[in-house]
Amino acid sequence: MKNSLATFAAMAVLTTGCAVETPDTASPPVTIVIHGGAGALAPGRYTPEKEAEFIAKLNEALDVGYAILDDGGAALDAVEAAIVTMENSPLFNSGKGSVFTREGKNELDASIMDGATLNSGAITGVTTVKNPIRLAREVMENSVHVMFAGDGADQFAEQQGLEIVDPEYFYTEHRWKSYEEALEREKEQKDSALPIDYKYGTVGAVALDAGGNLAAGTSTGGMTLKNFGRVGDTPIIGAGTFADNKSCAVSSTGHGEYFIRLTIARDICAQVEYAGKSVEDAANDVIHGRLETLGGGGGVIVLGADGAFAMVFNTDGMFRGVKSADVEEVAIYGER
Ligand code: ASP
Repeated sequence: MKNSLATFAAMAVLTTGCAVETPDTASPPVTIVIHGGAGALAPGRYTPEKEAEFIAKLNEALDVGYAILDDGGAALDAVEAAIVTMENSPLFNSGKGSVFTREGKNELDASIMDGATLNSGAITGVTTVKNPIRLAREVMENSVHVMFAGDGADQFAEQQGLEIVDPEYFYTEHRWKSYEEALEREKEQKDSALPIDYKYGTVGAVALDAGGNLAAGTSTGGMTLKNFGRVGDTPIIGAGTFADNKSCAVSSTGHGEYFIRLTIARDICAQVEYAGKSVEDAANDVIHGRLETLGGGGGVIVLGADGAFAMVFNTDGMFRGVKSADVEEVAIYGER
């Protein structure tokens, strides 16, 4: 609560589902924005104790990322560190808290992008890598490729000396219970539509560093009951993740198939770059316009090269937070 005006603005928008803060200073303030998934997050969904756990973890991720930026560190490092913090928590659908596939396995996806160079790294369907976002970064920085899939991605992680875990590491009781419940509900619905109280729990971060560079990253276990070989939007550059210093950085969460069709992250930055829209207007157009028209649900965090940010979703809520010199806030619920 360092700047009461900015904080007031942030708090007001954080409860409306469309948060926007545009700083008026000449040099953009170092900023980090994170999400921990969107979905059926109406007030009352969690006990006050559980809510406090989510809020504490979101604050921890923000603090870890912001400390790097405040110290003059790179946006990419801040994004990676914030995401690793959430991947290591069972609370979110990424890393340790990943959901189960139809076959009862955990298959993880992630991607990262450097707004200064447009270099990108992505991995899909890994089963033994403790921190998939680290592997995405290895692909970006230490391979000539952009995306690795399945066994090859797991092998590359070993080659690069990343921490490898037994697939059992990703088992959590609450996700297994959700898996069993989802199977039951699917029988009742007699089709494979998403249950109406679906909660996406993907994590993501976007950051702006003191050098004016943007970065974005996203990490997920995907969607409960995803079929074998299914790839969502999270590892797709332009859908789940995008960053370009010329426009903005975006991380998405939601029903991946829609985000892929609409190239959501790239579309937002294209609207900012080509049409001169604010990050807020571009995000609203894509989430409340194009995504809703197609029938999809989810949200995005967006950070502009000038430090303006937006957190927009068409679901009941989205785990989210922002930290800069002026604003520090986290929230879960909000209006559509
Ligand atoms: N977008 C992710 C996917 O479709 C799911 C999520 O955001 O939770 O795999």
